[in-house]
Amino acid sequence: MADQNPSEVTMDKIVSLSRRRGFVFPSSEIYGGLGSTYDYGHYGVLTKNNIRELWFSSMVQEREDMVALDSAVILNPAVWEASGHVAGFSDPLVDCRTCKLRFRADRLEDAQCGRKPSKRPGEFAECDLTEARQFNLMFQTQVGALQDGSSTAYLRPETAQGIFINFKNVLQIARRKPPFGIAQVGKSFRNEITPGNFLFRVREFEQMEMEYFVPPDEAEEWYRYWIGQRLQWYVDLGLRRSRLRVREHDATERSHYSSGTSDIEYLYPIGWQELEGVANRGAFDLTQHTEHSGTKLEYVGQDGERYTPHVIEPAVSIERIFVAMLVDAYDEELVGERERTVLRLHPRIAPVKAAVLPLVHRDAAMVTRARALFEELRRRHMTEYDDSGQIGRRYRRQDEIGTPFAFTIDEQTVEDETVTVRDRDSLAQERIPLAGVAGWLEDSLERPWSSPKGD
Ligand code: ATP
Repeated sequence: MADQNPSEVTMDKIVSLSRRRGFVFPSSEIYGGLGSTYDYGHYGVLTKNNIRELWFSSMVQEREDMVALDSAVILNPAVWEASGHVAGFSDPLVDCRTCKLRFRADRLEDAQCGRKPSKRPGEFAECDLTEARQFNLMFQTQVGALQDGSSTAYLRPETAQGIFINFKNVLQIARRKPPFGIAQVGKSFRNEITPGNFLFRVREFEQMEMEYFVPPDEAEEWYRYWIGQRLQWYVDLGLRRSRLRVREHDATERSHYSSGTSDIEYLYPIGWQELEGVANRGAFDLTQHTEHSGTKLEYVGQDGERYTPHVIEPAVSIERIFVAMLVDAYDEELVGERERTVLRLHPRIAPVKAAVLPLVHRDAAMVTRARALFEELRRRHMTEYDDSGQIGRRYRRQDEIGTPFAFTIDEQTVEDETVTVRDRDSLAQERIPLAGVAGWLEDSLERPWSSPKGD
């Protein structure tokens, strides 16, 4: 049962801001939508790109023990036989014969019946639930022109298997020795029985997974190491520590392949939920693919040492990070008489880093300087130029998309070549030399940041 969430930030507020400011739109809307499927607009794309790049940079670029991979979405179906997904990647499903809705049998306490006033499935006298049966979450498709059983293939439900089947390639060509990791980002697809809660559970999502191959007797140590690393990554990117926790699965909850799993959970408006999973997959995957493919997936050292590495896997979707970031950042406050909505995002996550605002759009001297500054800043960072409407309204627009810094060009700029910089969080304004803005912005984006909302 989910804990009660004391936060006033509701999912509805996040959905509404996302839509209003063009972060995320319901998909296929002009055709009535397709339940729980979303399209990303301009600011959504920019935010997603930042999350992906920051993950990639901490996992690959800043490490010497990691290589990247981008495997296909549709793999030989034998991969999913070997991995256990064809037989076991399923959730228990119940149907209600009365309201015709479907529910996950293991999540009934979080589900809502279709009738009003809404209750849990099974709580109305008329509810008529079937026995639970297993429902495989993989999307099926046909490869090629023939539509018989032999052409059935699957859209990948995780990116991990694409990594395991390339283990030998990487070992030989990248000349790696455990411990080392292979990192991959890409779309995964799951035919979830009950998608929902905005982007939290969707049928198509972008996973960021890393498989870390280690000597078997070091597995536990690396498992603990990766839980620590991944938790710290979120803290460094400004998520409040009090909203994060690590929850270790007990034996009954673990997946078929796992000998240890911990969830890094975030306190979403729907309660504590899995943000990222860190699993100790043991030798399960490499052993299965060795048996099914006939190709030995093991490490052989120069001294003849030979073993099947164990695997530690941190796995997360951009979607779950995206929601956690928006929830953590969302704030409403009174400034003077007026309420403002502000996204207090870490500057590195924020979709736009700086706004350049000429106070008077008809003033040629101001506009010349503002355009030149804009051209300079946009070469390195997403920057917006906005000259329409009152300055207060322009600030509010930037606050709502989380732009950390706004540079205003006014009369004084024309006199002494200084600009005002306004801080999104504190609303403090200071004057700095126009010529120093680019360097000032660079330094400010590098500085550690923590949420002004507290711990
Ligand atoms: P859940 O129990 O919530 O269904 P899971 O344990 O099946 O999730 P994993 O297989 O461990 O999830 O997937 C790894 C990560 O991928 C999750 O931690 C989550 O960040 C993300 N993820 C999984 N399913 C979805 C989904 N339907 N929508 C968005 N992200 C997802």
